[in-house]
Amino acid sequence: MSMTYYIDVYGCQMNVHDSEIISGILESEGFSSTEKPESADVILLVSCAVREHAETRVLGRASQLGGQWRDRKSGKPLIVLCGCVAQEHGNSLFARLKDLDLVVGPDCYRDLPALIRNSERESAVDFRESDYTGIEPVRKEFPRAYVTIMRGCNNFCSYCIVPYVRGRERSRNSDSILSEIAALSRSGYGEITLLGQNVNSYHDGDTSFSELLRKAASAAGNSWIKFVTSHPKDLGNETVSVMASEKNICEYLHLPFQSGSDTVLRRMNRGYSVQEYLDRIALLRDAMPDIVLSTDVITGFPGESEADFQKTVDLLESVRFDNAFLFKYSERTGTAACSLENPVPEAERLSRLNHLQELQRKITVEESGKLMGKTLSILITGPAKQPGQQASRTEGNRMVILEGTDFSPGSFVDVRITRADGWTHFGEPVENSAIR
Ligand code: SF4
Repeated sequence: MSMTYYIDVYGCQMNVHDSEIISGILESEGFSSTEKPESADVILLVSCAVREHAETRVLGRASQLGGQWRDRKSGKPLIVLCGCVAQEHGNSLFARLKDLDLVVGPDCYRDLPALIRNSERESAVDFRESDYTGIEPVRKEFPRAYVTIMRGCNNFCSYCIVPYVRGRERSRNSDSILSEIAALSRSGYGEITLLGQNVNSYHDGDTSFSELLRKAASAAGNSWIKFVTSHPKDLGNETVSVMASEKNICEYLHLPFQSGSDTVLRRMNRGYSVQEYLDRIALLRDAMPDIVLSTDVITGFPGESEADFQKTVDLLESVRFDNAFLFKYSERTGTAACSLENPVPEAERLSRLNHLQELQRKITVEESGKLMGKTLSILITGPAKQPGQQASRTEGNRMVILEGTDFSPGSFVDVRITRADGWTHFGEPVENSAIR
């Protein structure tokens, strides 16, 4: 008898795409998906361990779902915890969550069908070389698609749990990446994002990241190519020049700087100085004056003084990122930062975060306002939240809302920006705009 599964995802794009891979693995073995957890035979939670809050949320959800089955007539569903929290805690999770059945780490998803059918309480959390080549992901979004190009990370930034839960860096074979990109483009996907924890250090034999990017641009035809996440220490000149020269590589870059203080960057083990970071930004803007830039920042890292924090404020003010993802430092057990001296009190981390949020909101509004009246190419992604509106993205990842239009998802349209509300914009199609 065919089993139904329900899947819930937490965390980054890597997890979102891993959930598409999990669906591909399960559906190729006869499982079918359901949107209703209450009617599923198997409930899978793909967890994120990057911040403590994310971990607490997923464990709370697992325990709530576990409790709900007692009200069901159809018996208990199998509850499976996947992703980074599964990898981090392994078997010990069974003692904490009595309704949990399986714990499966990011490298072991190929085992899911067998583990589910076996229905023993067990964990699979080995590190393997698998990059899931050959698995056909069940894509849940159109016309935007993710393609994993590498897994794991070798950097060991002192606050980050990723190298411990995703293992060492390994790059996927470039031919299989390029054929996946070409197939997505033929199927009408307008935006393809190359994914990896540190894409710039991608390496498959002689194929470096910049080489892969050039080939990806050609394999993608008219589709846009984006990539995430870049590391400032590994972003090479060659990558910047490929971005500038290939028309369908989006002039958009997410480049986390984390702190504006060299002392803090050293304690974070980031491997670059503030000046080196600023040199990268200058290079990018020289090559692509309209490039859209976003970043990540952590406030209240252990030992961050008021003067260090002020340097972060200065950097945010001087670069004027179009968007920024701001976080207060969260301890992750097992990382090097946990043993650093001089922790910043929680209230101070939060107050510094609030300060940056206010500053960035102002910058985002000012930078978005500069687009008023300009014409931009957008990719229609589907209906917006409000009836009668359509949502779309620019190559710089800004959301643009259109009123009363009826374009097919996947169409490229030229629009004039009529209003900006932070990262969300409103626009109207330019007459006779070429729709590709
Ligand atoms: S580069 Fe640093 S922050 Fe990013 S995944 Fe690797 S260790 Fe974590």
